[in-house]
Amino acid sequence: MTRIDALLAAGPTFSFEVFPPKTPEGREQLDLALDELAVVNPSFVSVTYGAGGSTRDLTRDLVIDIQSRTGIPSMAHLTCVAHRRDELLELVEDYRRAGIENLLALGGDPPADGSDVPGELTYANELVSLVAEVGGFCVGVAAQPELHPRSTDRASDRRHLADKLAMADFAVTQFFFEVEHYLSMVDELTALGVDKPVIPGIMPVTNLAAVDRMAAMSGAAFPAHVHARFEPFADDPEAVRRIGIELASELSAALLAAGAPGLHVYSLNRSAATAAIHANLGIGR
Ligand code: FAD
Repeated sequence: MTRIDALLAAGPTFSFEVFPPKTPEGREQLDLALDELAVVNPSFVSVTYGAGGSTRDLTRDLVIDIQSRTGIPSMAHLTCVAHRRDELLELVEDYRRAGIENLLALGGDPPADGSDVPGELTYANELVSLVAEVGGFCVGVAAQPELHPRSTDRASDRRHLADKLAMADFAVTQFFFEVEHYLSMVDELTALGVDKPVIPGIMPVTNLAAVDRMAAMSGAAFPAHVHARFEPFADDPEAVRRIGIELASELSAALLAAGAPGLHVYSLNRSAATAAIHANLGIGR
């Protein structure tokens, strides 16, 4: 069984995200992490797509390689930004021919320098429709528990998410640190008539400065009470890692207890934190 909708139906799923390495050393690190995480029997692995299509071939080749080499069902991320329809269709056809059944359809971000990028699709829902034209895929979309950073108001952001998710099979969330953010979003989607599975994204904090930076970019709040747990250990990287794993494990346990259909860990191509969360939850072996 490699379709994520089928895995979710038999769930909960336990999965993780990786990115395409750009150097041979990075690839070695990723292969090691994949070997170590294969032991916890993950439901699936997802591979990011570089902003503006910058990792187009790397992502495609890595997704196909992971699924064929490890047997772990693999999901390719794909973004609208900077692509023509025919380029996207060609890529989706490549995946179909290679036996990849899961795609995460994303809007993508405009370049940080504010320059204009040519592209024929604007929003992720248009990419969901394009993938449906090819047919046969299980399609996920992104969800933002704390709203998308570009959204103008909560009601329209949730409406756009509900419309997009109604066309897709499931969603994966941006990372967040308070279980209430996830539960409120799921309640709001239910009120809008959408009850597709929404898999929470879990970010184990292993480095305070990096998480501060990522939280600022993604619109996810790094709450003061969470920060306070790390503060006494700011100069002790090993303690920061330990507390980060504890926090991620507590959040994961609370989400599963509240009915989340799975967990998707942002592994950043490392295995130790993801494996430790699995061990703390007693899952995957
Ligand atoms: P959309 O669903 O298109 O939404 C973007 C904004 O537009 C929102 O504010 C929404 O409310 C609004 N909107 C949506 N539809 C409409 C409409 N019809 N009319 C008006 N407004 C609308 N980025 C990458 O480049 N590569 C990746 O691999 C990647 N992986 C990700 C994985 C996850 C799990 C998540 C949560 C995000 C990921 N991102 C990735 C980031 C993502 O591309 C950005 O957050 C991007 O800014 C929006 O993507 P989206 O799919 O949420 O967009």
